[in-house]
Amino acid sequence: MILNDPCHKCRRLRQKRAISSLSAFEEAWLQEHWLACPECAADEAADLQVRAVLRASASNIDASHDFDEKLLRRVRLDRGARTLAYWSPAFVGAALAGIAALALIQVLAFRPDPKPAVLEGREARRVELPVIPDSGFTIHR
Ligand SMILES: [Zn+2]
Repeated sequence: MILNDPCHKCRRLRQKRAISSLSAFEEAWLQEHWLACPECAADEAADLQVRAVLRASASNIDASHDFDEKLLRRVRLDRGARTLAYWSPAFVGAALAGIAALALIQVLAFRPDPKPAVLEGREARRVELPVIPDSGFTIHR
């Protein structure tokens, strides 16, 4: 039913006209439909009014003399912030990898001597212990 609905065709043609141009036949069809259909004619009139208001408001903008510089500065700042946000996980990862590398170097550099102590003759030896001088105190039990 939608295919035969002239109002649907009218809306489709108006959408097409918004992004490209219509053929002379399509333009003539629209004009003829608006004469026969007051609802679509009112829609078209409302669209024309909105476009006129937008065009008028767009032409009243006066840019300041340093608008270009401000815009460029803003874009550069924005781009820099985005770049930093993009790379910040990489910086954190690099810092963690650096800390891990330092910890590994510490462990490897100060590793205890892996060779076991070799006991001569593999038996216990008698060792001379230092004599503790008498302190003069006596413990009574
Ligand atoms: Zn219509």
